[in-house]
Amino acid sequence: MRVIAYHGVVEPDEQSNHFARLFTDVESFEQQATLLARRGRLVTLEELEAALTDGHRLPDDAIHVSFDDGFANNLRVAEILDRHRIPWSLFVVVDSVLDGYRPWFVRLADAIEATSNVMLLDGSVFEMSEPARKREFAQRVKVQVMAAMAEDHEDVVDRVLALPGMSVPRETSWPMLEVRDLKELAAAGVAIGNHSARHRNLPRCDDHLLATEVAEPRPAAGCARPPRPLVRLSGRAPRPAGAPRGR
Ligand SMILES: [Zn+2]
Repeated sequence: MRVIAYHGVVEPDEQSNHFARLFTDVESFEQQATLLARRGRLVTLEELEAALTDGHRLPDDAIHVSFDDGFANNLRVAEILDRHRIPWSLFVVVDSVLDGYRPWFVRLADAIEATSNVMLLDGSVFEMSEPARKREFAQRVKVQVMAAMAEDHEDVVDRVLALPGMSVPRETSWPMLEVRDLKELAAAGVAIGNHSARHRNLPRCDDHLLATEVAEPRPAAGCARPPRPLVRLSGRAPRPAGAPRGR
Protein backbone atom coordinates (compact mmCIF):
# COMPACT_ATOMS: atom_id res chain seq x y z
CA MET A 1 0.00 0.00 0.00
CA ARG A 2 1.37 3.39 -0.96
CA VAL A 3 0.12 6.90 -0.18
CA ILE A 4 1.35 9.54 -2.61
CA ALA A 5 1.40 12.87 -0.79
CA TYR A 6 1.39 16.10 -2.77
CA HIS A 7 0.97 19.77 -1.86
CA GLY A 8 -0.10 21.47 -5.06
CA VAL A 9 0.69 22.23 -8.67
CA VAL A 10 2.48 25.12 -10.37
CA GLU A 11 3.22 26.16 -13.92
CA PRO A 12 6.28 24.34 -15.35
CA ASP A 13 8.29 27.59 -15.53
CA GLU A 14 7.61 28.47 -11.88
CA GLN A 15 11.05 28.66 -10.26
CA SER A 16 10.43 31.13 -7.48
CA ASN A 17 11.70 30.27 -3.99
CA HIS A 18 11.43 27.02 -2.13
CA PHE A 19 7.75 26.55 -2.94
CA ALA A 20 8.65 25.48 -6.44
CA ARG A 21 10.00 22.33 -4.82
CA LEU A 22 7.00 21.85 -2.61
CA PHE A 23 4.68 21.86 -5.60
CA THR A 24 4.60 19.60 -8.66
CA ASP A 25 4.67 21.16 -12.10
CA VAL A 26 1.28 20.77 -13.67
CA GLU A 27 2.50 19.00 -16.81
CA SER A 28 4.31 16.34 -14.78
CA PHE A 29 1.26 16.01 -12.57
CA GLU A 30 -0.96 15.44 -15.58
CA GLN A 31 1.41 12.67 -16.73
CA GLN A 32 1.46 11.11 -13.27
CA ALA A 33 -2.35 11.18 -13.16
CA THR A 34 -2.52 9.46 -16.56
CA LEU A 35 -0.13 6.78 -15.35
CA LEU A 36 -1.95 6.26 -12.05
CA ALA A 37 -5.33 6.02 -13.75
CA ARG A 38 -3.96 3.43 -16.16
CA ARG A 39 -1.89 1.26 -13.82
CA GLY A 40 -2.68 2.05 -10.22
CA ARG A 41 -5.07 0.23 -7.91
CA LEU A 42 -6.48 3.50 -6.60
CA VAL A 43 -8.28 3.35 -3.28
CA THR A 44 -10.39 5.91 -1.48
CA LEU A 45 -9.69 7.24 1.99
CA GLU A 46 -12.67 5.22 3.27
CA GLU A 47 -11.06 2.00 2.00
CA LEU A 48 -7.77 3.01 3.58
CA GLU A 49 -9.49 3.74 6.91
CA ALA A 50 -11.31 0.40 6.76
CA ALA A 51 -8.00 -1.38 6.16
CA LEU A 52 -6.44 0.30 9.18
CA THR A 53 -9.37 -0.12 11.55
CA ASP A 54 -11.28 -3.24 10.48
CA GLY A 55 -8.55 -5.28 8.87
CA HIS A 56 -10.22 -4.90 5.46
CA ARG A 57 -7.66 -6.21 2.96
CA LEU A 58 -6.32 -3.97 0.22
CA PRO A 59 -4.44 -5.10 -2.86
CA ASP A 60 -0.66 -5.05 -2.27
CA ASP A 61 -0.21 -2.51 -5.02
CA ALA A 62 -2.96 -0.19 -3.74
CA ILE A 63 -2.30 3.54 -4.02
CA HIS A 64 -4.00 6.46 -2.34
CA VAL A 65 -3.51 10.04 -3.59
CA SER A 66 -3.47 12.75 -0.95
CA PHE A 67 -2.83 16.52 -0.78
CA ASP A 68 -1.70 18.50 2.28
CA ASP A 69 -2.16 22.11 3.41
CA GLY A 70 -5.06 23.27 1.19
CA PHE A 71 -3.58 25.66 -1.35
CA ALA A 72 -6.00 27.29 -3.79
CA ASN A 73 -4.09 25.69 -6.67
CA ASN A 74 -5.66 22.40 -5.53
CA LEU A 75 -8.75 23.46 -7.50
CA ARG A 76 -6.70 22.77 -10.59
CA VAL A 77 -5.70 19.44 -9.09
CA ALA A 78 -9.40 18.65 -8.62
CA GLU A 79 -10.09 19.29 -12.26
CA ILE A 80 -7.25 16.97 -13.35
CA LEU A 81 -8.01 14.14 -10.91
CA ASP A 82 -11.71 14.36 -11.67
CA ARG A 83 -11.01 13.99 -15.38
CA HIS A 84 -8.95 10.85 -14.66
CA ARG A 85 -11.54 9.61 -12.10
CA ILE A 86 -8.89 9.35 -9.39
CA PRO A 87 -10.20 9.47 -5.80
CA TRP A 88 -8.18 11.68 -3.45
CA SER A 89 -8.06 13.19 0.00
CA LEU A 90 -7.24 16.70 1.05
CA PHE A 91 -5.90 17.62 4.51
CA VAL A 92 -6.31 21.34 5.15
CA VAL A 93 -4.85 23.86 7.56
CA VAL A 94 -8.21 24.47 9.21
CA ASP A 95 -7.77 28.09 10.36
CA SER A 96 -6.69 29.08 6.84
CA VAL A 97 -9.98 27.87 5.44
CA LEU A 98 -12.18 29.16 8.24
CA ASP A 99 -10.45 32.40 9.26
CA GLY A 100 -8.15 33.29 6.37
CA TYR A 101 -5.10 32.55 8.54
CA ARG A 102 -1.91 32.71 6.50
CA PRO A 103 0.47 29.93 7.65
CA TRP A 104 3.88 31.03 8.84
CA PHE A 105 5.66 29.26 5.97
CA VAL A 106 3.51 31.11 3.43
CA ARG A 107 4.22 34.49 5.07
CA LEU A 108 7.90 33.59 5.00
CA ALA A 109 7.79 32.48 1.36
CA ASP A 110 6.03 35.69 0.28
CA ALA A 111 8.63 37.86 2.02
CA ILE A 112 11.57 35.87 0.67
CA GLU A 113 10.13 36.06 -2.81
CA ALA A 114 9.94 39.88 -2.58
CA THR A 115 13.40 40.36 -1.00
CA SER A 116 16.83 40.51 -2.62
CA ASN A 117 19.07 41.53 0.32
CA VAL A 118 18.62 41.26 4.05
CA MET A 119 20.81 42.38 6.95
CA LEU A 120 21.27 39.64 9.54
CA LEU A 121 21.55 40.24 13.29
CA ASP A 122 25.36 40.07 13.15
CA GLY A 123 25.35 42.97 10.66
CA SER A 124 26.29 40.88 7.62
CA VAL A 125 24.24 41.10 4.44
CA PHE A 126 22.65 37.96 3.02
CA GLU A 127 22.17 38.33 -0.72
CA MET A 128 19.22 36.36 -2.07
CA SER A 129 18.22 37.44 -5.52
CA GLU A 130 18.76 33.93 -6.93
CA PRO A 131 16.25 31.13 -6.20
CA ALA A 132 18.95 28.89 -4.70
CA ARG A 133 19.86 31.61 -2.18
CA LYS A 134 16.18 32.18 -1.38
CA ARG A 135 15.81 28.48 -0.67
CA GLU A 136 18.92 28.53 1.51
CA PHE A 137 17.52 31.44 3.52
CA ALA A 138 14.13 29.75 3.85
CA GLN A 139 15.85 26.59 5.07
CA ARG A 140 17.80 28.49 7.73
CA VAL A 141 14.63 30.09 9.06
CA LYS A 142 12.75 26.78 9.02
CA VAL A 143 15.46 25.20 11.17
CA GLN A 144 14.95 27.99 13.72
CA VAL A 145 11.17 27.67 13.61
CA MET A 146 11.28 23.92 14.10
CA ALA A 147 13.68 24.27 17.03
CA ALA A 148 11.39 26.76 18.80
CA MET A 149 8.43 25.80 20.95
CA ALA A 150 5.28 25.82 18.85
CA GLU A 151 3.78 28.89 20.53
CA ASP A 152 6.85 30.86 19.38
CA HIS A 153 6.71 29.86 15.70
CA GLU A 154 5.02 33.06 14.58
CA ASP A 155 7.39 35.20 16.68
CA VAL A 156 10.43 33.58 15.07
CA VAL A 157 9.03 34.41 11.64
CA ASP A 158 8.02 37.94 12.73
CA ARG A 159 11.57 38.63 13.90
CA VAL A 160 12.94 37.49 10.52
CA LEU A 161 10.42 39.60 8.61
CA ALA A 162 11.46 42.65 10.69
CA LEU A 163 15.13 42.38 9.62
CA PRO A 164 16.38 45.40 7.62
CA GLY A 165 15.87 44.81 3.91
CA MET A 166 12.99 42.31 4.19
CA SER A 167 9.98 43.17 2.04
CA VAL A 168 6.63 41.95 3.33
CA PRO A 169 3.98 42.02 0.60
CA ARG A 170 0.36 42.46 1.67
CA GLU A 171 -0.97 40.01 -0.89
CA THR A 172 0.15 36.41 -0.97
CA SER A 173 1.33 34.64 -4.09
CA TRP A 174 0.04 31.36 -2.64
CA PRO A 175 -3.57 31.76 -1.51
CA MET A 176 -5.29 29.00 0.40
CA LEU A 177 -8.66 27.39 -0.31
CA GLU A 178 -11.73 29.11 1.12
CA VAL A 179 -14.90 27.70 2.67
CA ARG A 180 -16.83 27.78 -0.58
CA ASP A 181 -14.02 25.91 -2.37
CA LEU A 182 -13.98 23.23 0.28
CA LYS A 183 -17.74 22.80 0.09
CA GLU A 184 -17.47 22.39 -3.65
CA LEU A 185 -14.68 19.81 -3.34
CA ALA A 186 -16.55 17.91 -0.63
CA ALA A 187 -19.67 17.86 -2.82
CA ALA A 188 -17.56 16.46 -5.66
CA GLY A 189 -16.50 13.56 -3.41
CA VAL A 190 -13.07 14.67 -2.18
CA ALA A 191 -12.39 13.30 1.31
CA ILE A 192 -11.45 16.28 3.47
CA GLY A 193 -9.46 15.99 6.67
CA ASN A 194 -7.73 17.98 9.35
CA HIS A 195 -4.08 18.95 8.81
CA SER A 196 -4.02 20.82 12.15
CA ALA A 197 -5.34 24.27 13.01
CA ARG A 198 -2.23 26.35 12.19
CA HIS A 199 0.38 23.87 10.97
CA ARG A 200 2.42 24.11 14.14
CA ASN A 201 5.22 21.61 14.70
CA LEU A 202 3.22 19.10 16.78
CA PRO A 203 6.16 17.52 18.66
CA ARG A 204 6.97 21.06 19.92
CA CYS A 205 3.43 21.76 21.19
CA ASP A 206 2.52 21.63 24.88
CA ASP A 207 -0.63 19.64 25.73
CA HIS A 208 -2.96 22.61 25.52
CA LEU A 209 -1.67 23.79 22.15
CA LEU A 210 -1.68 20.23 20.85
CA ALA A 211 -5.38 20.01 21.71
CA THR A 212 -6.16 23.23 19.80
CA GLU A 213 -4.11 22.02 16.84
CA VAL A 214 -5.69 18.65 16.35
CA ALA A 215 -8.98 18.54 18.29
CA GLU A 216 -11.79 17.45 16.03
CA PRO A 217 -14.66 17.27 16.40
CA ARG A 218 -14.45 17.82 20.19
CA PRO A 219 -12.00 20.05 22.04
CA ALA A 220 -9.95 18.36 24.74
CA ALA A 221 -11.17 18.83 28.31
CA GLY A 222 -10.22 22.24 29.65
CA CYS A 223 -9.41 23.63 26.24
CA ALA A 224 -11.11 26.95 25.59
CA ARG A 225 -10.92 26.71 21.86
CA PRO A 226 -14.09 25.65 20.00
CA PRO A 227 -14.03 22.41 18.03
CA ARG A 228 -12.63 22.55 14.56
CA PRO A 229 -15.82 22.57 12.53
CA LEU A 230 -14.61 20.79 9.43
CA VAL A 231 -17.59 18.51 9.67
CA ARG A 232 -19.84 21.54 9.21
CA LEU A 233 -18.13 22.32 5.92
CA SER A 234 -18.14 18.91 4.39
CA GLY A 235 -21.40 17.65 5.87
CA ARG A 236 -19.69 14.32 6.53
CA ALA A 237 -18.23 12.53 9.47
CA PRO A 238 -14.82 13.90 10.48
CA ARG A 239 -11.85 12.42 8.70
CA PRO A 240 -8.62 11.24 10.25
CA ALA A 241 -5.98 13.86 10.81
CA GLY A 242 -2.81 14.16 8.74
CA ALA A 243 -0.10 15.66 10.93
CA PRO A 244 2.12 18.44 9.57
CA ARG A 245 5.40 16.94 8.36
CA GLY A 246 3.90 13.55 9.07
CA ARG A 247 4.63 13.75 12.82
ZN1 LIG B 1 1.70 20.49 5.62
